[in-house]
Amino acid sequence: TEPLSSRDPEIWGAIQKELGRQRHEIELIASENIVSAAVMEAQGSVMTNKYAEGYPGRRYYGGCQYVDIAENLAIERACELFSCQFANVQPNSGSQANQGVFTALLQPGDTILGMSLDAGGHLTHGAKPNQSGKWFNAVQYGVRKQDSQIDYDQIQQLATEHQPKMIIAGGSAIPRIIDFAKMREIADSVGAYLMVDMAHFAGLVAAGLYPSPFPHAHVATSTTHKTLRGPRGGLIVTNDEDIAKKCNSAIFPGIQGGPLMHVIAGKAVAFGEALRPEFKAYQEQVVKNAQALADQLMKGGLDIVTGGTDSHVMLVDLRPKGVKGNATEKALERAHITCNKNGIPFDPEKPMVTSGIRLGSPAGTTRGFGEAEFRQIADWITEVVDGLAANGEEGNRAVEAKVKAEVEALCEKFPLYPDL
Ligand code: PLP
Repeated sequence: TEPLSSRDPEIWGAIQKELGRQRHEIELIASENIVSAAVMEAQGSVMTNKYAEGYPGRRYYGGCQYVDIAENLAIERACELFSCQFANVQPNSGSQANQGVFTALLQPGDTILGMSLDAGGHLTHGAKPNQSGKWFNAVQYGVRKQDSQIDYDQIQQLATEHQPKMIIAGGSAIPRIIDFAKMREIADSVGAYLMVDMAHFAGLVAAGLYPSPFPHAHVATSTTHKTLRGPRGGLIVTNDEDIAKKCNSAIFPGIQGGPLMHVIAGKAVAFGEALRPEFKAYQEQVVKNAQALADQLMKGGLDIVTGGTDSHVMLVDLRPKGVKGNATEKALERAHITCNKNGIPFDPEKPMVTSGIRLGSPAGTTRGFGEAEFRQIADWITEVVDGLAANGEEGNRAVEAKVKAEVEALCEKFPLYPDL
C-alpha cells in the first residue's frame, strides 16, 4: 500500500515531470492522444497480475473468469465499432498486430507489396531494417510526383510484375483518404490478400468519417492508441473465419505469450467510449481542426503536402521558408509545441534532417481545442519557423520565449487531468 512517491521517488518524479510536460505543452504528434482517466484506471489495475495464455473460455491457466469478461467485452465492442465478425485484441502493439497477420498468412520469402517509409508507409510494411523487410521479399510503392497522392497505377504495375501474396494499404503519414475498393481490385487481379493497416485513422473509421476497410480488406490491423484514443496496443479485425482462426494462432502461441490483460481491459474501456455519440462529435472536430491548422499554415506561407488533409494528419513542407525538419522540431519544442520531423515525398534531405514536419490534431482536440485555437497554433508555428528562416538553426529565441508563454497560457485554459 506504500505510495509510489515514497516507494520509488525517482520513478514517481519522472512521472510527475511527464505529467507537467503534457499539461504545459501543445501535443501535435499525429500518432498520440490523451486517454481518459477511466482507461488509465483499467490499465493500472490488478489485471496486470494475471496470466491468461489462450483465449476467453480456452485458457492455459486457472482463475481467468474475470479477465475473460474484460477480453470478451473488448472483442464484442471492437466488432461493433468496425462492423465485423472477428477481433483479436491481444496484440501488444501495432507492429505485433502486423507481424501476427504476416505469421498467419505468409511464409518467409513470400512477396509483399507495401508503401515505402519515405512516401508515408510504416516500418512494418516491408522497410529494410524491419523484420518485414528482412524475412519477406518486400516490394514498395510510393506516391505520384505531381500531387504526392498514392500512385494506384504504380501499385497495379508492381503487383502484376511481382505477384505479391499480400498487398498492404495504410501508413503513418497519409493525409488523404485511401481507395480501398481500388486496392482490392488490384489485389484480386493477382490473387493477393489485402491487409489494411488503419492504425492512424481507426478512430475516424469507428466514427464513420473515413471509409471502412470492409468489405474490401481480407483483414485489417490497428493500433489502439492513436485516433482510437485507447491504451498503447494493437488489434486485428476481419470478417473471414478462416483468417480469424489463423490470426488467433499466430498471435498466441505464434508470436506472443501471456496477453496484457490490464491493457485489454483498457482497450475495452476505450472501445466502449468510442461507441458513444460524443466520440463521433470528437472525431468530427479532429478533422475540422486539422483542416483549420493546414489552412492557416498555408496562409502563413508554408506548403502542405497534397494541399491539405481529409483526416487528422498533415505533412508540412518547410522548403518555401528554407528551413529543415530537425531544426524546426527543436525550435518548436523550445516554444512548448511538440511535433516530429518527417520526410516529405521525394525529400532531398536525409531522414535525420528532413524537409518537413508531421502534425496532427487528435491530442489537442481531446484537450478541448477548437478551430480558433488550432489557427492560433498555426500562427505560432509560422512565427517560430520565420525565426529560423531569419536566423538559421539557432532560431529567434525571443520569439520562441514569447510563443512559449502564450502556449502555456492557452494550456492553462484547457487543464489536463485536473484530478491527478
Ligand atoms: N502501423 C502504422 C500505420 C503505424 O503508424 C504504427 C505506429 O506508428 C504502427 C503500425 C506500429 O504501432 P506500434 O508503435 O504500436 O508498434
